[in-house]
Amino acid sequence: MKTIKHFVDGQKFSGSSKRVGMVFNPATGEQSSNVNLANSEDLNEAVDSAKKAYEPWSNTTPIQRARVIFKFKELIEKNSEELTKIIVSEHGKVYEDAKGSLIRGLEIVEFACGIPQMLKGEFTENVGTNVDSWSIRQPLGICAGITPFNFPAMVPMWMFPIAIACGNTFILKPSEKDPSCSIKLAELFSDAGLPNGVLNVINGDKEVVDAIIKHKDISAVSFVGSTPVAKYIYENCAKNEKRVQALGGAKNHCVVMPDCDLDQTVNGLMGAAYGSAGERCMAQSVAVAVGGIGDKLVSKLTKKVESLKVGSGMDKKSEMGPLITKEHLKKVKGYVDLGVKEGAKLLVDGRNLKLQGYENGYFIGGCLFDNVKKNMRIYKEEIFGPVLSIIRAQNFDEALQLVNDHEFGNGVSIFTRDGDTARTFSNKVKIGMVGINIPIPVPVAFHSFGGWKRSMFGDQHMHGPEGVRFYTKLKTTTSRWPSGQRSDPEFVMPTMK
Ligand code: NAD
Repeated sequence: MKTIKHFVDGQKFSGSSKRVGMVFNPATGEQSSNVNLANSEDLNEAVDSAKKAYEPWSNTTPIQRARVIFKFKELIEKNSEELTKIIVSEHGKVYEDAKGSLIRGLEIVEFACGIPQMLKGEFTENVGTNVDSWSIRQPLGICAGITPFNFPAMVPMWMFPIAIACGNTFILKPSEKDPSCSIKLAELFSDAGLPNGVLNVINGDKEVVDAIIKHKDISAVSFVGSTPVAKYIYENCAKNEKRVQALGGAKNHCVVMPDCDLDQTVNGLMGAAYGSAGERCMAQSVAVAVGGIGDKLVSKLTKKVESLKVGSGMDKKSEMGPLITKEHLKKVKGYVDLGVKEGAKLLVDGRNLKLQGYENGYFIGGCLFDNVKKNMRIYKEEIFGPVLSIIRAQNFDEALQLVNDHEFGNGVSIFTRDGDTARTFSNKVKIGMVGINIPIPVPVAFHSFGGWKRSMFGDQHMHGPEGVRFYTKLKTTTSRWPSGQRSDPEFVMPTMK
């Protein structure tokens, strides 16, 4: 059985830990490899390498750093088929979706190619008489990223290309459930000319995450994953004096107004609720039917969910692949059982789906609930599977209130033909990313990604301008060059004159 190693100092590295995790192909349920699970000594090796690499890399000019990133972009494009297959084989999502997620990551790399423009500072001449002042952004040092299973290429690429473009060195700890993509990306970056130690990948679980949190030489941590772990990372990184951004879970609503284009809305909802088997932090898991639209929405959705094509990610006809693990499948089925017990109406039941040739895969068909109420756990909690809940609201205000009262605040959409409704919604809603007739409003690379409320702990969102701010710190210099006359000591606070 193949063992996936770490990538440290420009090469594969087994480390001293004897612990391994198992990686599965979710479509077949077969184990495809083992993965080394690092301990704190293995992390120390990565930190030593990142530390050595930091001085020369941070002194490399931004344009030269950008040139390496440009080559990396070309190598990702050249290897996109292999990378996509790796994502499908370890995550399970369907091929075109996996490719799309890789391209969204590639777009961050493209953004990072423009880093000289983003690192320009501000200069003011004559802030006082013959005194000038300027602000620059400098790298932080060694940064770490801890990422979830559901986007094995895109989420790591929200982090390391920008951190590295800004002059930092980076340690990535990908999900132990699908680690191969990160290793391949690190190899490609190395082939592109990235000096050894600038990007290291350490595989592992809680043990190495805790070592990252405590390591005194790591300056900043970016985290994406579930809310309880995000909160833990946020609190403990702060305790250990690290800069931190920690993105958590979600329960994204789609508000369906009575005047919407219903066919477009239903198509949007289908992709957003069932794409990637609902394992997206921007997946829509609640449709809020406003006014009299509920029954028509239910009837159109039911037919579409019943005819969803579920299958292996490598099968071109599949619209939805399996879930990530056997345990997660059990959890998602458990939520569907719970919804029935709580009194919601299960219109489409995907629990008993069996696929010929894939009997051991982690498949579940699309599930659709109507008459969901706000006190039910299936409404309050993140299911992270292909389960869409329909909840009815009498009017716009009630729908808006529902969204604003929910503990999560990642993404939301409204479908309407009325500009005033859409504008009021986008203005009043307490959510980080808003879509108007857009089902999955994931900001593009040159904007920034992040939620509100318990979907994100920290201040700066990921990638785009917020990413550059996160991975750099501000330094402001005030300067004058007096000649001739010596001045007397001044004991009062200087003001601008
Ligand atoms: P997870 O929280 O289980 O794991 C995320 C990372 O944390 C992994 O690298 C894992 O090894 C590590 N980890 C897990 N348990 C830990 C613990 N107790 N202590 C320290 N580290 C730990 O999340 P997941 O199941 O891999 O991913 C799915 C979750 O991620 C969902 O909740 C989803 O909404 C969320 N997510 C959020 C975003 C976002 O942008 N907000 C994006 C993608 C995924």
